Amino acid sequence: MMTTAILTDQRYAAHTYPGHVERAERLFAIEKALDASELRDDLLVIAPRAARPAELTAIHAPTFLQSIERFGTHGGGSLDPDTYMNEASWEAATWSAGAALRAVEAVMGGECQNAFALARPPGHHATANQAMGFCLLNNIAIAARYALDQFGLERVAIVDYDVHHGNGTQDIFYYEPRVLFCSTHAWPCYPGTGPATDMGAGAGSGTTLNVPLPLGVGDKGYIQVFERVIVPALRHWQPQLIFVSAGYDAHWSDPIGPMVLSVAGYAQLTRMLYDSAAELCAGRLILVLEGGYNLEALGACVVAALRVLLGRDPGKDPLGVITAPAPDVSGIIAQLLSRHPLFLSAHRSTAEA
Ligand SMILES: [Zn+2]
Repeated sequence: MMTTAILTDQRYAAHTYPGHVERAERLFAIEKALDASELRDDLLVIAPRAARPAELTAIHAPTFLQSIERFGTHGGGSLDPDTYMNEASWEAATWSAGAALRAVEAVMGGECQNAFALARPPGHHATANQAMGFCLLNNIAIAARYALDQFGLERVAIVDYDVHHGNGTQDIFYYEPRVLFCSTHAWPCYPGTGPATDMGAGAGSGTTLNVPLPLGVGDKGYIQVFERVIVPALRHWQPQLIFVSAGYDAHWSDPIGPMVLSVAGYAQLTRMLYDSAAELCAGRLILVLEGGYNLEALGACVVAALRVLLGRDPGKDPLGVITAPAPDVSGIIAQLLSRHPLFLSAHRSTAEA
């Protein structure tokens, strides 16, 4: 039976800061949208756990972990102009990473087919030794490493459709041959990283795939990119588990994201990843919440994604589509297909076969 799990916890609400967009109300909005969705009875609720120290040090530098734990437990404050901690943030962060870890256990152990970690603080900007961009620990990287190390996987993929580049995830896995990291992101935009020319290095050469997109791209452009670049990349990679850095700040209503995706458009992207997981890895798919700062859009995007994970129609888009000029994305698609090693080697092996 196809089962979809959600993982969330009360502890996340204590990590909040007045006036900040990355606040407790984000998960409250998701809970409210779930209540209205009538999906609750169909979802398996799994309690997260705290990440264990060894699971954190598999990704993060011990000195970094000690310093942010100390900073938080001594009352916190601003780590940088974007990123705050309070006295509850360290525990929230270890439980946020723990939600993604527990999702790996659930999906790999057959408790569920797929899962959505509804946790915060988010993670994809956090590097091995730096918190930034509202992120303290890199939840998805910690979970991906755990899947490789504890479940004997050889290839996993991370697709990041948050509007911002997942610089932390890229950085952590830049030399890692077992993790394909694919990111679509607004360009130029925070944090300024993620050009198409970053493709991984050393043993990880060809395992980073960036799709920087002009500001204002909506459903049509994103779907084109997913159809022509992301899904073919996954097919070439043959992952045994697919993770998604599920940020919903590319929605047209988002207060900080410069793109114009709709709820329905986001659901189509999720559907393509769901179909890829079904085709490539027995449906094993884990979504990990990242950004998304218009509360109504965030709730609607998460509900639509959960309907897709349940194998259903995503339902009506409650916020609708915005009509805007659609920037051309064919240039970046052509550039990646002709220059990225993932497509070149796949092309070569197909030609030789
Ligand atoms: Zn973001």
